[in-house]
Amino acid sequence: MTFEYAPALEATSVVKIKSEYGLFINGKFVPAKGGKSFPTINPATEETLSKIAFASASDVDKAVAAARAAYSKVWSKMPAAERGKYLFRIARILQERAREFAVLETLNNGKPIRETRDIDIPLAASHFFYHAGWADKLDHAGMGSSPKPHGVVGQVIPWNFPLLMLSWKIAPALATGNTVVLKPAETTPLTALLFAEVCQQAGLPAGVVNIVTGDGSTGSAIVNHPGIDKIAFTGSTAVGKGIARAIAGTKKSATLELGGKGANIIYEDAAIDETVEGIISGIFFNQGHVCCAGSRLLVQENIQDELLEKLKRRISMIRVGNPLDKNTDLGAINSAAQLAKIRELADSGDTEGAERWSPQCDLPSKGFWYPPTIFTGVTQAHRIAQEEIFGPVLSVLTFRTPQEAIEKANNTPFGLSAGIWTDKGSRILWTAKHLKAGVIWANTFNKFDPASPFGGYKESGWGREGGRHGLAAYLKGDH
Ligand code: NAD
Ligand code: MN
Repeated sequence: MTFEYAPALEATSVVKIKSEYGLFINGKFVPAKGGKSFPTINPATEETLSKIAFASASDVDKAVAAARAAYSKVWSKMPAAERGKYLFRIARILQERAREFAVLETLNNGKPIRETRDIDIPLAASHFFYHAGWADKLDHAGMGSSPKPHGVVGQVIPWNFPLLMLSWKIAPALATGNTVVLKPAETTPLTALLFAEVCQQAGLPAGVVNIVTGDGSTGSAIVNHPGIDKIAFTGSTAVGKGIARAIAGTKKSATLELGGKGANIIYEDAAIDETVEGIISGIFFNQGHVCCAGSRLLVQENIQDELLEKLKRRISMIRVGNPLDKNTDLGAINSAAQLAKIRELADSGDTEGAERWSPQCDLPSKGFWYPPTIFTGVTQAHRIAQEEIFGPVLSVLTFRTPQEAIEKANNTPFGLSAGIWTDKGSRILWTAKHLKAGVIWANTFNKFDPASPFGGYKESGWGREGGRHGLAAYLKGDH
């Protein structure tokens, strides 16, 4: 006998989406010069949600001028404790309007309401709370007696955690006394524009936060604008490398958070049921659109059969479908382009000889969907072991000795995250010491906290975000 879930749909009446949105420059919504716009959709239904202004280089120029004026006339002169009050106010408004943000994020991104409600939005608020507390304590943060901000910061973010990535960028920038010009990703502008309304509601001085919507050309106009002092970017390694080239030889500093191919290492003595949950959260959280996803499973060979059997049984229980349903575990893929990329890479797994497995699952007919998928028999040379898929696809490899696990885990151009599952504390410490990864979780995965620095080695990026290390990146000098 099977027990079916009754649908438990989150109401959408809490959000009021406008039919069109301008750019947020100098505290006001203004149309793009020339009136250019682009549609934004719900990836779960392909319905158009709104029309978004498309910022050209001259709009970016206006935003940078507004940020510069706000920096020199207001924000840099304000006592640090006053700055902190604005951040506290924004944090509280995000909490008060959390349901509205969660529903809007789910509509525009496709991720399940369970995640936006319990993870994205609470974490975004906590980033503002955390950094609000730092604003008046920077003189005592071990970065010199009176550390100085860069000035105007250009920030470009991706679509996988739209409001959360905005908070990772804006909260530390404002806490340290910078003003910002931020560009959300082209497919997910809506929560950034709602955040602009929050800035108005908080009475944030005009020009401290400017939000310009558009595509890569808009991002490039920010990166190349001479009035920008620092760039903070999260996105693909290819674009990150282009940004590094574009700013070489200029006075701009940069932090880059790029891709990953995280190894999740399972030793034979790991607590197996907890480990299965950790593998699930490592690769299927946010449809696998996670730079630090545990997308390469490294299993000690003698437990492979038992682990895979339990893992497949658990994957069969993942509920794929309407992101607004509170029962949903795996929502829509964010765009047709990302779906095509996932398909292309997963298909290379078939042709290169790995073995594909997916549970039986019915996918909705409209929208962009991909079933939870695992590949076994993956070798290190396979593309699915080397390239970032950024989707709900897990590559399974095996190892016999801890040394072999390390060698395989580090055999990647990336170095963002890793997981270690074992009963022995000494083995955790030994493994962590030998892994080249910026973030390492032990007997857990995908845990985030604003006090904890995040960032990568090698092609996963430059610098750290979060914690004291993340603050340093928004202050002048080496810390
Ligand atoms: P992307 O790097 O193209 O886009 C990220 C952001 O950069 C967007 O806001 C985009 O408009 C902007 N951008 C694009 N070209 C730019 C340029 N030349 N100069 C300045 N800004 C530019 O990433 P994507 O196309 O959204 O996704 C492609 C792949 O990137 C994914 O499949 C995934 O592998 C990776 N990715 C990683 C992360 C991460 O968190 N590290 C996030 C999103 C995507
Ligand atoms: Mn792109």
